[in-house]
Amino acid sequence: MKKHYLLIIALCYTINISSQTATFNITYVGFTAQAQTAYQFAADIWANTVVSTVPIKVTAHFTALVPGTLAITFPNGRKNFAGAPIADKWYATSLANSLTSTVLNPGEEDVEMYVNSNINWYFGTSGTVPAGQYDLATIILHELCHGLGFLSLAKDSTGIGSFGMLRNADFYNLVTAFPWPNLDTLPSVFDNFLVSNLNQKLDSFPNPSTTLATKFTNNNVFFNGANAMAANGGVNPRIYAPGTFTLGSSITHLNESTYPAGNPNELMTPNGNPAYSLHNPGPICIGILKDIGWNINPSLKINEENKEINKFSIYPNPSNNQIYISTTIAKEKIKSIEVKNMLGETILNMDKKLNADITSLERGIYFITIISNECSVTEKFIKD
Ligand SMILES: [Zn+2]
Repeated sequence: MKKHYLLIIALCYTINISSQTATFNITYVGFTAQAQTAYQFAADIWANTVVSTVPIKVTAHFTALVPGTLAITFPNGRKNFAGAPIADKWYATSLANSLTSTVLNPGEEDVEMYVNSNINWYFGTSGTVPAGQYDLATIILHELCHGLGFLSLAKDSTGIGSFGMLRNADFYNLVTAFPWPNLDTLPSVFDNFLVSNLNQKLDSFPNPSTTLATKFTNNNVFFNGANAMAANGGVNPRIYAPGTFTLGSSITHLNESTYPAGNPNELMTPNGNPAYSLHNPGPICIGILKDIGWNINPSLKINEENKEINKFSIYPNPSNNQIYISTTIAKEKIKSIEVKNMLGETILNMDKKLNADITSLERGIYFITIISNECSVTEKFIKD
């Protein structure tokens, strides 16, 4: 479980199914109707984000996994296919198929996913997640992104770092419908963009080697793609590379503390948050997908413009008894208003009321989040 941080931000996402630019054919194994609805909700967001004329085939298993794991995803892969933009790198087959407008893997799935049935999931799609529950739609959105190729093939085996030496046994021996490939000690196309703080390409180091292991664990791994950088103010986004390598978390995510809960780029950090939802890949994730080769729906809006429209203010601020909210968000669109403390714990549920008595709150900094049909907007206030 990770700490919660809150920033003053707005997240908005509007799904327009009619502009769907890809199709997901999903085979559900062990999912209840409720769980399936949440899964489909996340798949629809990707169907509206990436562009492919080839349907993306997913098999999703709802089954018991080792404690502490929310879900795990195995993308099928292809390398050196005709027209591959970069040679000797693994592409997720969904991406390779999209790039070639061809089914390069007939009869095989593109993505095999296991979702832990022992987790206390929230199956709704409202974005308002009860305490102690994990939002299935958020986690599926994250996992499908790995399936689309947001994935490193890095591994650290007793101090020897490598690319392309992962084995089925490294992942609890989960069985996949497609044959687990021999990765031929080759990196993924995602790995191709990883650099050190000195701007050295990680896949330029000897593979496998002890040097590579030190590069994977020094908190100095960055993504060097033009689109991802443009989405990050011109700076290389930071990749998760903690001092101890954890397979499935290290290198294959955005850095946890750089993009904490509340940050629009939080989706692809390694840890899921209870009582939290994010139904938007975020600009850096979209940039990374573009860099590895995905065409992105040109009409996709990250809806930054709504930030201005859907602002609200809290007055008086600071206050010691009553607070009032003034907002441009239409009242019928408001689903809930919550007051959280610095730890991200919900202290007060204001329901849809635009005022609250805060006399009982301790002095300190609090955050109010308005969740509407389209947005979640957060502002800070001080109880004095
Ligand atoms: Zn992940």
